[in-house]
Amino acid sequence: MPELCIGVDVGGTYTKIGVVERSGRLRLERRLDSQAQQGPAAFVERVCSVIKAWTSQGVRPVGLGLGIAGDVDSRKGSVRLSPNLPGWAGFDFKRALGRRLRLPVAVENDANAAVFGAYVAQLKRKPRHVVGATLGTGLGGGLVIDGRLHRGATGSAGELGHTKVQPGGELCHCGDRGCLEAYAGGYGILRLARRLALAKPGQAKRLLSICGELDALEPVHLTLAAEAGDPVARQTWIKTGQMLAIGLENFVLIVNPDVVLILGGVSRAGRWILEPIRRHFARQPFRMPFSRARLALADNADAGCVGAALLALEPEARADRC
Ligand SMILES: [Zn+2]
Repeated sequence: MPELCIGVDVGGTYTKIGVVERSGRLRLERRLDSQAQQGPAAFVERVCSVIKAWTSQGVRPVGLGLGIAGDVDSRKGSVRLSPNLPGWAGFDFKRALGRRLRLPVAVENDANAAVFGAYVAQLKRKPRHVVGATLGTGLGGGLVIDGRLHRGATGSAGELGHTKVQPGGELCHCGDRGCLEAYAGGYGILRLARRLALAKPGQAKRLLSICGELDALEPVHLTLAAEAGDPVARQTWIKTGQMLAIGLENFVLIVNPDVVLILGGVSRAGRWILEPIRRHFARQPFRMPFSRARLALADNADAGCVGAALLALEPEARADRC
């Protein structure tokens, strides 16, 4: 019987709960409405009732990991700030879940959890150093250094999305300007596509026939339109890939990774954004780190849930069992 762990990937709207093997294989899963407005204590109750139903069927987890969007204090097991989960800041998830379930609990930023999940499930822990970018509505990042998730002094390491790629540039959801997320996060990509389509409507005909109207535009429409030869959609992905390349270039020079991993729904646009990154890396005069860094896509939608679970098996989570 392989060792099992529970992973909880908490989103603003939905939460995925899964039973995960040490290899990263997801064995069981449930999706819940997060019902964030009812507060974290009610959320913990609902998560516990799903887990208790599983344990009554013979599932014997040895730990639980929770991945949450926002600034997470993984040592205390709480969220410092989460714009998607108003009123959840300061709640002690580690204590609340640990006491109810009598399990070691790890609480982690959702991008860190997803990068770690893909590191184990997809890369099989083989490379030692990985830079991961999670492309969704925003843009998250995570670092694996020497085979371990790198959290930094306050758990805030790897915030790729808020590194600057353009001084005084586009407005980011964090309030600053010129962050990578403002270009390569979902809202930044859509902002650029709409701007290009309004400036050159004649070149966005296929895109408009796919999305209907610009207000309904989603990244998946841009992928379909780019494949159908739409110039505005292709230009959007090229520009997105170029900005992502600048952000990743900086991380490659700092971390010297074996693999640069791109995760998330937008990564379905794979070839459209990978090509500009490859070209940018090939142009770098300081060759060695760029020839080493292999670009890879991870399109596993379960990576966040899997990674949260696996982090509860790491030595630091097991050391402070409640
Ligand atoms: Zn920002």
